[in-house]
Order: sequence, then C-alpha cells, then structure tokens
Amino acid sequence: MHTATQTTTPAPATPPSSAHDAPRATLVSVTDLKMYFPIKRGLLRQTVGYVRAVDGVSFTIYRGETLGLVGESGCGKTTLGRCVVRAYEPTAGTILYHSGERDTPAAAIDFARLSQRELRAFRHEIQMIFQDPYSSLNPRMTVLDIIAEPLVIHKRLRGSALKAEVGDLLRRVGLRPEHMNRYPNAFSGGQRQRIGIARALALRPKLIVCDEPVSALDVSVQAQVVNLLQDLQRELGLAYLFIAHDLSVVQHISDRVAVMYLGRVVELARSKTLYSRPLHPYTEALLSAVPSTNPDISRERIILTGDVPNPANPPSGCHFHPRCRYAQDLCQQQAPPWREFEDGHGVACHFAEELKLVGVS
Ligand code: SF4
Repeated sequence: MHTATQTTTPAPATPPSSAHDAPRATLVSVTDLKMYFPIKRGLLRQTVGYVRAVDGVSFTIYRGETLGLVGESGCGKTTLGRCVVRAYEPTAGTILYHSGERDTPAAAIDFARLSQRELRAFRHEIQMIFQDPYSSLNPRMTVLDIIAEPLVIHKRLRGSALKAEVGDLLRRVGLRPEHMNRYPNAFSGGQRQRIGIARALALRPKLIVCDEPVSALDVSVQAQVVNLLQDLQRELGLAYLFIAHDLSVVQHISDRVAVMYLGRVVELARSKTLYSRPLHPYTEALLSAVPSTNPDISRERIILTGDVPNPANPPSGCHFHPRCRYAQDLCQQQAPPWREFEDGHGVACHFAEELKLVGVS
C-alpha cells in the first residue's frame, strides 16, 4: 500500500532519476502553467470562451535528464513544449529557469514573464527540435545557412570561424562538413532531422524541447536518431523534454515520464515505475497499447471510448471520468487533487491506492 502526501501541484522537491540515484540540480521548474486560447465569435470578434490547452501544469526538469511527456493528440503536449521555449506567452504560471549552477529560486529567471527583448539574452539556453524534418527546414536555404543563422545572430560568428563551427556541428550529428553546401531536399528524413538537431545544438543549450522528433521517421531511422540524442546528452550534459505519443520510444529514452490528459499532468514518475506500476487509469490504458516483448504474456488491450473531450468545455470533477472504467460518483463531483507517493510518484486520481492497475513488465 502506498502512503500519500497531498499537494495541489506536482511537487518539484524530489529529483528522482532512473539513471542516476543521486539528487540532481534543478534546471527548469514549471508551476501552475496555463495556456488559454480565446474563442472569438461574431462581427465584433468578442471572446465567448477559452480553449484550456494547458490548465495548471507543474513539473521540474533536472540538469542532464530526459523528462518524457506522453498523451493522446490534442492533450496539450505540444502547446506545453511551446510555452517552455516561449514560442507562446503563457496565460498564467511560472517557468523558472535556473541559469546558473545554483538552483535556488533567487538565481532563477521566470521565462514566462520575460519581454521579447529580455528573452533574447536567454533564448540560446532552451532550444526546440520539431516533429516534421521536411517542413521545419527552409528548402531555399543551404545547410550552412540553416545551421549558421543562430550563430550569426547570437554569437556574431562570420567567415571561416562560422564554417568551422557548422562543420563541427555536422560531425557531431553524424553528417559530413561537405554537406553544408547542399539544400535540405538532398537529404533523407533522418538526415534532415540530424540537421535540425545540429541547428538546435548551435548555441550550446542546456535544455532541448523535442516535439515528436522521430514520429515522422521510419522505425529503423527512429532508433538511430534516438541513439544520437542519447549520445549528445552524455557528451554535452543536455536535458530533454521529450514529447511523443509512442510510449515505447519514450520508455527507452526517458528518466522520468509525465502523462498529460486534457491540459493537465495526471501522473508523473520514474520511467521504470510508471511503466511497471501505473497509478492512473489513463496511464494504464495507454500502456495496454504497448506491444509486449514477451509472447507468453498476453495483456488486455483497454479501448478508451470516445474522443478526448473539448478543452473549451471539460467534464466536471475528474476530466477523465466519462472514459474511465473505474469511475465512481465522487469522480463526477470532485476534481482529484495531486498526491505524491514514495519516490516522487505523483498522481491525480481519487482511488490510486485501491486500484490494482496493470503495467508493462
Ligand atoms: Fe477514474 Fe475516478 Fe480516478 Fe478519475 S478519479 S481516473 S474517473 S477513478
């Protein structure tokens, strides 16, 4: 039986990691983050409601770790990633970025509240890799221009120093310096994603938000890109927020995993713990779709009925209750609070202690 401590948000105090048991320093702590998009109607374009794409999310990313972020399409994963890199200005909440070696709040900068001008000084610290390597690279720019752009703007590199830096970045991602004079259409999908990674690395960031970085690639190429990301993490001490809907890929790369449903994190734990002992029925349903590696073990596939509800008009109580096979009366009436169990395993479910949910071994 688990013992729980009750908090209103996922507490970022304990830094667990499956790969390293020693506590790690905080890099980014996100607290009660909200991103609401107004719904405008009529001739006067009046605001008649809000799409709550991200609705009160809290989590911490530690230096050098990979935090996986999973959930169905439309759950708010990508919006959350874009808030963290400040492609969107959040409606509310804080994104404390610990830029120095110390991780005290006093040494942190609130990324959510920086003006565009102030952001320029810190933008190099957090970069993003995009899902589609075909559309994320400008087809009219050479690889040199694509990778050099941030170096010219932020580091003011020019001439031979610039080319040497781009050549070095290409080598780091498994391409050759002579590739810099070609255009993106000369490369395969996996090679284009490597170019995108080289561009993201150009400014030596500490955190890279990877938004479905391998989902557009062939399965064999996916493994190569994931291995590259892991090698770069070891060499450069990078942290990743790894957004994906493929739970097998997320399990492979992540130290910890957060599960999102309708704009909220409903479970967060070490990767191994979450996959073997899920505490939220939504996590159990997602895991039931992961192919078993042991043909002797058959697991029930849990089919979630209905679509993800409209984030402009979410269900009462627990947002998952219309699709939850364990729902009781309380679930319709009250939103479950976030509670933390041992080992930093957090969950938002009224009945987490009683349910005996099935994971993957
Ligand atoms: Fe299901 Fe109720 Fe738990 Fe929500 S609180 S996940 S509806 S059992």
